[in-house]
Amino acid sequence: MTGTVVKSTGSWYVVRETGTGQLHRCRLRGKFKIKGLKVSNPLAVGDEVAFTVEEQTEGAGVIHHIEPRRNYIIRRSVHKTEHAHIVAANLDQAMLVVTLVSPATSFGFIDRFLVTAEAYRVPVTLLFNKTDLYDDDLADYQEQILDMYQRIGYPGMRCSAHTGEGVAEIDAQLNGKTTLLSGHSGVGKSTLINALVPDLDLKTAEISEFSDKGVHTTTFAEMLEVRPGTFLIDTPGIKELGLVDMKAGELAHYFPEMRALLNQCRYHNCQHLHEPGCAVREAVDKGRIALPRYDSYVSMQQADDNRK
Ligand code: GDP
Ligand code: ZN
Repeated sequence: MTGTVVKSTGSWYVVRETGTGQLHRCRLRGKFKIKGLKVSNPLAVGDEVAFTVEEQTEGAGVIHHIEPRRNYIIRRSVHKTEHAHIVAANLDQAMLVVTLVSPATSFGFIDRFLVTAEAYRVPVTLLFNKTDLYDDDLADYQEQILDMYQRIGYPGMRCSAHTGEGVAEIDAQLNGKTTLLSGHSGVGKSTLINALVPDLDLKTAEISEFSDKGVHTTTFAEMLEVRPGTFLIDTPGIKELGLVDMKAGELAHYFPEMRALLNQCRYHNCQHLHEPGCAVREAVDKGRIALPRYDSYVSMQQADDNRK
C-alpha cells in the first residue's frame, strides 16, 4: 500500500492511505539516511511511503520505502547544532501569516522565513491577518509592505480570521495543493486554520488517535485535509525554520532582488557590507532594494558570522 505521512511523533507515524484516505498507525523498518544531511528524523510529514499491514503487528503498518522528496524544509536543532529536524516534505507552497499590530511581525522574522523557503525552492505567499484592526494609516502602510514584497516575487493577501475577509481567496489558493502554514505565535494562525479546515476538531482528534499517546503531539507538524487533494500542514510550536550547511557568501543568493546583482560587485567575494564597488549597496542607495530587506540581510549575515 502507499500513502502520505500526516503526522510523526518520532517512533510512530500516521499514514493516510492513497485513494481511500484511511489512516494507519505505522512504524518504520530499517535505516533510512539522507545523503550529506544529519537529521534527527528519517521521515517527516508529507513524505510519500510504501507500507504493509501485517497480522502479527495487530493492524499496525510497517513502512519499508520512502519516495524521493521533491523538496523539504528543516529546522535547525536548538540543542545540538549538528542535527536538524525535517519539518515537512513535498510542499507545493508555504503561507506565512503575519500581522502589523497585536503583535507586529518583524521584518527580520519574515525575511528569515523567506530565505529558508527560497533555499528550499518553496514559493511563499504572505497573509496579512487581523485587517479588521487596521485604521487608514495602517491600511496604507500594509499596502506599502505588500508592494515591497510583491515586487520581489512574494505575493501577499489581506485577511481577517475574525470577519472572514480574504478567507475564500486563501481557500482558492490552497486548491489541489499541499501548503505549509506558518507564523509567529499570536498572529491568528490557529483561528485561520479553523476557518479554512472544515470539521477541524474531528480531524485532529482522529489523527491523534493514531499517533503515539504518551507523546506531546502538539509540537509535531500535522497534515490536515481541507478536502480531497487539498492539504494544509500546520506546524505548532515551530516558530522559525532554519538552514543548515549554508556556505559563507551564499545568503545573498536567497534574496531574489540581490541575486541578479551579485556578479556586478567589484570583488567576487563581496559580502555586500562595507566593500567598495558593491552593486548591492548601490542598489540600496538608489532605492531599488528596500532598506528593511537590506537590514534583514545585514543582521542575518552578522548572526551567521557569530556562529562561526
Ligand atoms: P496563533 O498563536 O497564531 O495560533 O494565534 P491564535 O489563532 O490563537 O490567535 C491569537 C489571538 O488573535 C486570539 O485572541 C485570536 O482571537 C486573535 N485573532 C486571530 N485572528 C484575528 C483577526 O483576524 N482579527 C482580530 N482582531 N483578532 C484575531
Ligand atoms: Zn557587493
